[in-house]
Amino acid sequence: MEVTLMHYTPLNVCSYAIRTCWNSFDKSDNGGEKDKALIDRVGNKYKHSSTLEHLSFSFYIQGVSRAVLQEIVRHRISSFSVKSTRYTLKELKKIEPFREDDYNGAERFIVLTGNEEVDSASIKALNNLQAILKSGVSNDIAKYALPESYKTELTWSINARSLQNFLQLRTSKSALWEIRDLANMIYNKLPKEHQYLFKDYLNKNS
Ligand SMILES: Cc1cc2nc3c(=O)[nH]c(=O)nc-3n(C[C@H](O)[C@H](O)[C@H](O)COP(=O)(O)OP(=O)(O)OC[C@H]3O[C@@H](n4cnc5c(N)ncnc54)[C@H](O)[C@@H]3O)c2cc1C
Repeated sequence: MEVTLMHYTPLNVCSYAIRTCWNSFDKSDNGGEKDKALIDRVGNKYKHSSTLEHLSFSFYIQGVSRAVLQEIVRHRISSFSVKSTRYTLKELKKIEPFREDDYNGAERFIVLTGNEEVDSASIKALNNLQAILKSGVSNDIAKYALPESYKTELTWSINARSLQNFLQLRTSKSALWEIRDLANMIYNKLPKEHQYLFKDYLNKNS
């Protein structure tokens, strides 16, 4: 799994938005310590949380399973553009079937769990899918044989308020291990100066 932070809103945009409410622009230190404290106080402590929506982040997420994809997209207050199997399954036609214990080779296409029985079953499913595609079945039909472990990628944009909710839910011990790994990785990829807005939403026991 790989996460790249493609773009983010500087903190001074959020502090400017907050200062709009009180016409207190003259007190700004342009996204410095005073403004950072203001954002935390108003956005987090006073629960005037809509001000946090002025901060947004765009990530490129690679190598997550389709099992995790269907969990990420439950976070409705964010935007997604996902690699389409309808258009990209031809990538499987260009390769040879994997040995059922060739975890290193198959890892290019599937997320491994570390459980040999499960991972071999995923490799079998991948080989079955290759055979179906090579026999001339169209992507639109063949995709119904995809294993949940099949890797995908997406561009994901989310505002700070919604990201707090995502991190709180998905760093929890009760979340699926793969999305928990993703949530922790996303936090670590945030700009250092933004992390203070999110640290209280991380589940420390995860
Ligand atoms: C441990 C765990 C187990 C789960 N198990 C299941 C499961 O078995 N089956 C299943 O279907 N899902 C399951 N989910 C998914 C869960 O129900 C949510 O769909 C998902 O976590 C997204 O959360 P959210 O709605 O807060 O996020 P978002 O959709 O991003 O919404 C953010 C916030 O906006 C507000 N909001 C958004 N839409 C509405 C609305 N229509 N009405 C009112 N307020 C709204 C809410 O305050 C919400 O918290 C699970 C999630 C977790 C973390």
